[in-house]
Amino acid sequence: MTQRIAVLGATGSIGDSTLSILADYPEQYQVYALSGHGRLDKLLELCQQFKPSRVAVAEDKVKEFSNRLKQANISCEVVGGQAGLDNIAADAKVDTVVAAIVGAAGLSSTLTAAKAGKRILLANKEALVMAGSLMMQAVKDNGATLLPLDSEHNAIFQCLPAAVQQQNTRIHESCYGISKLWLTASGGPFLNKSLQLMQTASVSEAVKHPNWSMGQKISVDSATMMNKGLELIEACHLFDLDESQINVVIHPQSIIHSMVEYCDGSFLAQMGSPDMRTPIAHALAYPNRITAGVKSLDLYELSALEFIKPDLQKFACLKLARDAMRAGQAATIVLNAANEVAVEAFIKEQVSLTDIALINGRVLDTMHHKVSNNLMAKEDQLLTSNSTNKNSNFNGNINTLDDILVIDKLARIEAQQEVAKCRS
Ligand code: NDP
Ligand code: MG
Repeated sequence: MTQRIAVLGATGSIGDSTLSILADYPEQYQVYALSGHGRLDKLLELCQQFKPSRVAVAEDKVKEFSNRLKQANISCEVVGGQAGLDNIAADAKVDTVVAAIVGAAGLSSTLTAAKAGKRILLANKEALVMAGSLMMQAVKDNGATLLPLDSEHNAIFQCLPAAVQQQNTRIHESCYGISKLWLTASGGPFLNKSLQLMQTASVSEAVKHPNWSMGQKISVDSATMMNKGLELIEACHLFDLDESQINVVIHPQSIIHSMVEYCDGSFLAQMGSPDMRTPIAHALAYPNRITAGVKSLDLYELSALEFIKPDLQKFACLKLARDAMRAGQAATIVLNAANEVAVEAFIKEQVSLTDIALINGRVLDTMHHKVSNNLMAKEDQLLTSNSTNKNSNFNGNINTLDDILVIDKLARIEAQQEVAKCRS
């Protein structure tokens, strides 16, 4: 049977890797829908190559892109904005949604896919950081399937017992004897550089990842190790574990993609070349396997595999993520929002790389004060009475997507203020 696939975030790095595999298996997979945002030339080329039935772009680009498709003689429905993405995610014709939009922009469509009971191949870790409980509940309630594309989580998934993989049972059940998860991290481009060098790092130095080729935001997150922090939170939700049951270890070679430790002393690890086509092919074909064009590991060539404990002073974002996970969902939403704003400011050369942790920490502190003193509802009312969003009724409990978006919005405002302080 042909699987109909929607690739949301098709113009990005994960989109590239996914489509390169799909192109090799036209009988098994039909590219039914695509989405892009800023890179519309690239999206047009993808539409020419894959002939999707539907495509999503930003709301204000629908007309322009429809005209370009017409001129190119491509027949394809164009939908716009968040509503368009949600509509594709819930489309009855879609079997599998590849959630590869970066950041909070991917949350709503990922959640919609879960509510529509889809098979979701999840790259957008920010969706779980912001809405982990809501997402996991929606998956469960609607019979959706969630398969991780993030290489570490995909590795852990592969090292878990089949019954746990198939969501027939919980990871905690004592008969499986799982005692810990080990998330590996490359340590990024500054692993062997001083904090001082990190302070003055340029954007091009920060995004030059030693082992992986990725989008700009995740590359900056890897340089600060915020990426590993987000992945720690992602793993807690995906595998239903406490943060204390997940260790992070730096493994500069990026050959072991993560490990599961069992109570008898066994460590099961998944290894391979650092190439996202491996986890993507795994999730696409699961429980079968397909080739992905990935270079085989040459074990004779591999010299040493190193493992190092992370320096939490240098990589303060990793500690902030662990603290936020312990503090609860409001804190993880705040951390994600602050980080997106801070990373954007770094990419625009408004703040330094080390300011990112500073901004994230300060926003967490201020927002913690506001949440504990119940100032959020008042502040949101003040803001919404002056804005177009009149629907918000945040009352301190986080039960809906709207509740999450209120905290996200307030944290972004706070983060912008911190960015301004760093610049002055
Ligand atoms: P890229 O920046 O390469 O791609 C991001 C995609 O999201 C693009 O298609 C982009 O469109 C789209 N996009 C950006 N902003 C919006 C918006 N406001 N609304 C709708 N679409 C938007 O990122 P990556 O592919 O590297 O990462 C995607 C996700 O996967 C992230 O969450 C990342 O953490 C995760 N991930 C990535 C890995 C990697 O190796 N790259 C590994 C593990 C996880 P356009 O380009 O047209 O502007
Ligand atoms: Mg990863």
